[in-house]
Amino acid sequence: PARIAHKGSGEARTGLPRRSTLRVLIPNLGSTSLKYQLIESHNEAVLARGSIDRIGGAESQIISWEAGSAQEARAVGHVPEHRAAIKILADHLARLGSGTQPEGGIAAVGFKAVHGGPRYCGSFLVNDDLLAAMQDFVPVAPVHNPVYIQAMQIFREILPGVPMVAVFETGFHATLPEHAYIYGVPWEWGEKYGVRRYGFHGSSHRYIAQRVPDLLRRSSAGLRLVSCHLGGSSSLCAIQSGLAVDTSMGFSPQAGLEQSSRPGDLDPFVVLHVMEREKLAPREVVQLLCKKSGLLGISGLSNDVRDLEKAAAEGHARARLALQVFVYELKKHLGAYAAALGGLDAVAFAGGIGENSWRIREQVCSGLEFLGLHFDPEANRLPAQGDRVISAPDSAIAVLVVHTNEELMVARETVKVLAATRGMT
Ligand code: ADP
Repeated sequence: PARIAHKGSGEARTGLPRRSTLRVLIPNLGSTSLKYQLIESHNEAVLARGSIDRIGGAESQIISWEAGSAQEARAVGHVPEHRAAIKILADHLARLGSGTQPEGGIAAVGFKAVHGGPRYCGSFLVNDDLLAAMQDFVPVAPVHNPVYIQAMQIFREILPGVPMVAVFETGFHATLPEHAYIYGVPWEWGEKYGVRRYGFHGSSHRYIAQRVPDLLRRSSAGLRLVSCHLGGSSSLCAIQSGLAVDTSMGFSPQAGLEQSSRPGDLDPFVVLHVMEREKLAPREVVQLLCKKSGLLGISGLSNDVRDLEKAAAEGHARARLALQVFVYELKKHLGAYAAALGGLDAVAFAGGIGENSWRIREQVCSGLEFLGLHFDPEANRLPAQGDRVISAPDSAIAVLVVHTNEELMVARETVKVLAATRGMT
């Protein structure tokens, strides 16, 4: 098992504060990683955070933990699979709780779950029916759902009696009007299989919808905002008065913008044609669409915008093209959402790309002066930290960089579900 050596101030040994509080554990499951935050509900402080990377890899694993800024621990060991990683996390949290509170005093576990289909579009207590609904949608979210189903089951075993809440990424988009979520397909597909636009990255878009009015020192009433969550996967959301009215992902997280290694919007007949020509089974084509497409597929080089920006600057034509496609799709969606919202007041960039790539932000915003968007390239390029406005003072549309906080949204939703459940019993 991995050894964890502590270093830092004396507080490292004292562990978490002992006063009674509602502590919500937010695990963030990747296919080979487990990150977590432990959030105190009263003041929304992050009591502890950490990650286990390269789960299942042959090489040594890196594990790091911290509580506030006072504690950091690193260890190298072998973590064969998620169950072992979750056990290490639970043991670690129990230790942080100084042995006085079981499981470190965790009141609930909140999951940023992806797809629960039509019946679970919001935030819900995890139970067998919810797990079955997620299982039903595994083919639609093959990268995301299985790892969360497995993690929920393991957490239930390892932390028996601790309530678990699934905060579905689709939940924020539940306010989409019918004309924005209905597809032109045989009507019974909707009734039988839940075929419709759902939208994803709900926790991030929800955070941005709340954060932008704060940053602009105005109410969200009447605010026409486009939230751009651009990261390993990317989506846009058109938000009117704080509520989602359209979004770029669809029935699955595969739709919309070009993703790092997934195609985004694609004519379905491309898939049928290639399947027939290459005699591909559904499983094989899913692999190609999930792992070999998007920015990686176009560039033939990398799925990471950092690599592509570097290569494009050095003259790599397909890297440049991959970025051009990404930027063009973003710009087109902004135009479409300006039309859908009847004008625009703000555009916010978030996620690993949105927060870090000044080039992408600059390219997306250039040429949109006709909408009243006046960009401030200087402000945009400043290596500033933190949330900020990067449009010119005379711009009719505010452009912002927002450091999204999905874990906080999941924690708040989890507390809401707990409160509602307790109110009912
Ligand atoms: P995930 O969606 O997996 O949580 P992130 O939101 O962290 O991922 O986004 C990851 C992506 O952000 C990387 O693939 C990379 O393309 C991009 N990124 C991170 N830092 C930078 C940077 N400094 N410049 C450009 N792109 C960046």
